[in-house]
Amino acid sequence: MKNSILKEKKPLKPPTRKKEKKYLFEIENQKVEVFFRISKKHFCTLKITSNKILVLHNKTLQEKEIETLLKIFSENIKNHLKAQRIDFDNLYFYFLGQKYDYQIAQKGQSFYFSKPTFLSKYTFRNNEEEKIKDKLKELLEREFLKYLTSKVRYWEKIMEINYENEIALREKNSTWGTNYIKQKKIIFSKNLWAFSQEIIESVIIHELSHCFWGDHSKKFWAIVYKFCPDYQILTKKLNKKEFN
Ligand SMILES: [Zn+2]
Repeated sequence: MKNSILKEKKPLKPPTRKKEKKYLFEIENQKVEVFFRISKKHFCTLKITSNKILVLHNKTLQEKEIETLLKIFSENIKNHLKAQRIDFDNLYFYFLGQKYDYQIAQKGQSFYFSKPTFLSKYTFRNNEEEKIKDKLKELLEREFLKYLTSKVRYWEKIMEINYENEIALREKNSTWGTNYIKQKKIIFSKNLWAFSQEIIESVIIHELSHCFWGDHSKKFWAIVYKFCPDYQILTKKLNKKEFN
């Protein structure tokens, strides 16, 4: 695999943070923007959110060093590119670790997804491209919330939590879940739906362990590992955006 560096000459639009530098790299024939920022705290770290690839480093880098770093991180960046939850150009999405092709069919005045079958019960009136995109996201969200709720109920019983948490989904990029212990409410990231069931369950177990301990103390981790011995492996996959 070849990575070439094309430094941008023009000033950036929209403006990035002052100390960030944007570079354009080519990975597998795809142009990718990678931002570099000096940070005293980080020797060298790659941070990927849904809309930004950022390298934090603790000193000014030479072009060669940047090239080396990119080689080191290229596997993670490739995974990130692959990890689009819905690919509208190639008509597929990932859901609970599985890849599904989708297809739209018409029935009288309305439309429905003839593939995959777990979405075929929903019908809709408008098949314009933008509407389809919104519809597909909405339906997957709905299915995912149903799935999450049943899994949380299951784990609440196993972990002997004697109340039911309220569950909601949010567009979260910084965390996978948050337990608002006092409100008995857990919010999960929408970005989770593409991952395998065991990865999602590791996030559920983490959040439910907060029902016992609010912090990340030893006692907290003891509970997490009791119910999810593979927690470390699963978290690695999660952060590398390996769906299964
Ligand atoms: Zn936590």
